[in-house]
Amino acid sequence: MAGELTQETLDPEDWPALRKLAHQAVDEALDYLQQVRQRPVWQPTPAAVAAQFQAPLPRSPQGAERAYHDFHEWVMPFQMGNTHPRFWGWFMGNGTAFGALGDFLAATVNPNMGGGNHVGNLVESQVVDWCKEIVGLPQGSGGLLVSGGSMANFVALAVARSAGAAVDVRAEGVAALPKPLCFYVSTEVHSCIQKAVELLGHGAKSLRKIPVDDRYRFNLAALAQAVSADRAAGLQPCAVIGTAGTINTGSVDDLEGLAAFCRQERLWFHVDGAIGAVVALAPHHRQLVRGMEQADSVALDLHKWLHVPFEAGCVLVRDRKAHRATFSLTPEYLAHAQRGLASGADWFSDYGLQLSRGFRALKVWLSFKEHGLDKYGRLIEQNIAQAQRLGELVCAAGELELMAPVGLNIVCFRYRGQGGTPQELNALNEELLIRLHEGGVVAPSYTTLNGCYCLRAAIVNHRTQTADLALLVEEVLRIGRVLQRG
Ligand SMILES: *Cc1c(COP(=O)(O)O)cnc(C)c1O
Repeated sequence: MAGELTQETLDPEDWPALRKLAHQAVDEALDYLQQVRQRPVWQPTPAAVAAQFQAPLPRSPQGAERAYHDFHEWVMPFQMGNTHPRFWGWFMGNGTAFGALGDFLAATVNPNMGGGNHVGNLVESQVVDWCKEIVGLPQGSGGLLVSGGSMANFVALAVARSAGAAVDVRAEGVAALPKPLCFYVSTEVHSCIQKAVELLGHGAKSLRKIPVDDRYRFNLAALAQAVSADRAAGLQPCAVIGTAGTINTGSVDDLEGLAAFCRQERLWFHVDGAIGAVVALAPHHRQLVRGMEQADSVALDLHKWLHVPFEAGCVLVRDRKAHRATFSLTPEYLAHAQRGLASGADWFSDYGLQLSRGFRALKVWLSFKEHGLDKYGRLIEQNIAQAQRLGELVCAAGELELMAPVGLNIVCFRYRGQGGTPQELNALNEELLIRLHEGGVVAPSYTTLNGCYCLRAAIVNHRTQTADLALLVEEVLRIGRVLQRG
């Protein structure tokens, strides 16, 4: 009894209606970006809007128009604010209009970048090769796009561990290591490195946090001491992780010095360049990251200083074979054929943790072609100059205090006014930052340096103008005075 099979699909029932909605969405999205300066940087999500996200599972259709309407009313207005010209929190890119279209186009063709023979692989290979050129690693290096710096660092350290271990860790596990491995970072290291070492099974204690100098850079003498002490104690030093642009202050380690040390000690040299690898594009500051090109592996972020929409990071590994040997695993259902759709010697899933992978390469490829890399270099210079200017404004204002040398594009400062105990100044600046955020005019973030709570502006922003910096200083002074008067 052969009944009629159903013929349902997710395609639109009414293509012209969806086309109209799509045109409206594009228009409203471009308006949103063009008018970004006119909105508050940040505003809290109202309770009535938050309540909309407690809805039961929608089992019956509401339709695309209704879903888009809800997005437009409830989601679009209450954003983080990192598209705004006066957002300087953490270390985030703005994104770009054409980059957003790139994500739309990638989702339209929707390939799975885990493997198979299709043109998407060429796009990603091209983009990864371009990243090698930016960083200065040989074209034969391994590499792939990942979600961001955290995953890039994880992949690189996994390769470093496998390559450096005395046993086959993939087969035997870390318990079989004759000597425990140690990893060397400065105290300014990003937390994702510690997460990576923990997840690789070595424990946070295997991470040696070496002191920094007065400019927050790796202290090489202390590193040498730690490595020889660990060797003497029967441990196995494995890798040194230098940072090109630390998250707290934007300082750049002496990468040439670290590279030379690692060569001499036969250690893996990894550079966390999530912030600063792309400074290699900046004509007047590229010497700061010299030595990065000698690394065994580099992590870089494209969604930070290159403003590709989230998510986009890249990991590069000089020894392509070691990279592949760490991640490649080919069961029958993923075997590579000689010809046809399943052909291709190298699948990106052989170089990382993910099997199914999105086409994030497309927005990178489109963005690089749209603007050219020289422009990104100029924008990086522009942000560095803006940070210097902000540092000068801070120093010129008697009530403010610069809390660290301005590293790259990061300015750490605080309101001091008439002064106070360390606790009073910490509490005052914490409250000051919250009022800045609630005011919606400017959005720096925060950090703590030597026990002092600081306001921290990371100017990763292609929309910031000089006048915005003066406004930040004005707002800090205005609110600081109100708070100090009590
Ligand atoms: C942001 C950052 C990371 C983590 O990168 P994500 O893209 O957020 O995963 C790692 N290291 C440094 C120095 C960073 O600034």
